[in-house]
Amino acid sequence: MTLATHAVVGSAIASLVPTHPVIGFCAGFLSHFLLDSIPHWDYPLKSDSINPSKGGALKLDKNVIIDLSCIGFDIGLGLAFSIAFFISNAPFLPIIIGACAGIIPDVLQFVYSRYPKSFLKYLQAFHLWMHAETNLNNRPVLGVSLQALLIVIVVIACKFFLLA
Ligand SMILES: [Zn+2]
Repeated sequence: MTLATHAVVGSAIASLVPTHPVIGFCAGFLSHFLLDSIPHWDYPLKSDSINPSKGGALKLDKNVIIDLSCIGFDIGLGLAFSIAFFISNAPFLPIIIGACAGIIPDVLQFVYSRYPKSFLKYLQAFHLWMHAETNLNNRPVLGVSLQALLIVIVVIACKFFLLA
């Protein structure tokens, strides 16, 4: 799932408990795995250096720059959405903590690909176990639309929850 979607869901959860950032972080972190269990679309990564499932030798080339640009845009979009949607619910810091918590499991996948013998192997096994077996990778329009819909539902649900 895109990092933007993970960020929005993580920050939505954290914005519900703004005075408990540790709970917000943990819940946002766990939300990552639940979201990954839904069949979804992921943009393809061109570089074996960046793709955690490849774990290729680190080298700076055109593909790495393209991948890092996509990932940077994805994260930037997620943080911008998170702040725009939830700044009326909670202070800036809990929102950012929740957004980052939602993203971190995928960052840890990259770290794992560099250090496969570390304790991260347990988290990686869990990540793969939770991850949906089917994907929408050959249906990008549907995939993006479903994630946009998921974001809308989460934002509305979060606002309703705060009104209740
Ligand atoms: Zn993931």
